[in-house]
Amino acid sequence: MNFLEAIYKLTYNTGMAGDPCTVHYYRNLLGHRSAKGPVKNAYRAYKMLYYTILDAICVILFMDKLGSADISDVTLPDFSQMTPNDSIQWLNSICQELVRKYFFENAEDIVEEIRNVLENPQHEENYWTSSIENGRFKCHHCEKDYKRVSSLKAHESGMHGVSLSNPKKKKEPSSDELQDYILMLFKLTMLLRNFDSGVDMGDGGRCIRSAKYELPIYHKTNKIKYTICSIHTTALSSGLLNPDQEERFIANRFVNIQGGKNNNIALDEYIEMLNRDTKASCTGHKTKDSILKHAKEYLQNNLKRLVNWVKRISSSSILCN
Ligand SMILES: [Zn+2]
Repeated sequence: MNFLEAIYKLTYNTGMAGDPCTVHYYRNLLGHRSAKGPVKNAYRAYKMLYYTILDAICVILFMDKLGSADISDVTLPDFSQMTPNDSIQWLNSICQELVRKYFFENAEDIVEEIRNVLENPQHEENYWTSSIENGRFKCHHCEKDYKRVSSLKAHESGMHGVSLSNPKKKKEPSSDELQDYILMLFKLTMLLRNFDSGVDMGDGGRCIRSAKYELPIYHKTNKIKYTICSIHTTALSSGLLNPDQEERFIANRFVNIQGGKNNNIALDEYIEMLNRDTKASCTGHKTKDSILKHAKEYLQNNLKRLVNWVKRISSSSILCN
């Protein structure tokens, strides 16, 4: 939900209702009236809207790859002569090219800048932090020191005429802004879909890898808590934990409470559900005394639920990580 909220921040603008090909335009065109207000109040409605648009983009890219938007103009291989495996191979090979071209090509190296700073002691960013003493940044030319780098910068440039060029690479804006927008929509919604289906399938590895891609999006949309969480998840799964713990951390993220294939939900979402249920069953008892007085009821309620749950798990062969 938070990732979709970040995507929404980057791509949704109700002021652009008249602009064809924006998400809000498609929402009106398709009559997705339930997608309104904050994302957290209409998560599923927004998700279906974005997925519908994603499907359309995928179909268009696929048809474009085959050379025409009209299916009757396209020569498809003769599937009746192919084994099911070969057909899937054919489909996969085209999809692979599309993902490579539209998702990964021209992708920015998001940590290039920070890597340059860390690997090169002579990098000018390091000039400002090289004079740190007792937590204060000392001027390179006189005795003054400052609590913040920005103050030191102002002082050195004002008093000593220090000016370091800041060669920030600005990306040339492409001339086709609509295509840029649609491609951004494609990439962002693909990430969401990838994560979402990873959860459904209980694919911990995929969800963990997804955090790396989510990180810059959270950063860009000022979701500090989730930025930190992405770094935390990636770090824990990439060497901080010992191998046993790492495996458990990656595999043990989901639970299947309804049975059947691909019906997993994330453990943190499950906790939210339990939390909500518990709060609902405890309403009216706000003080310690009254909670203790009714503790037996809660316990019995929740025990019943737990027993039912265990019964359900053990009675069906559930794919449960
Ligand atoms: Zn100075």
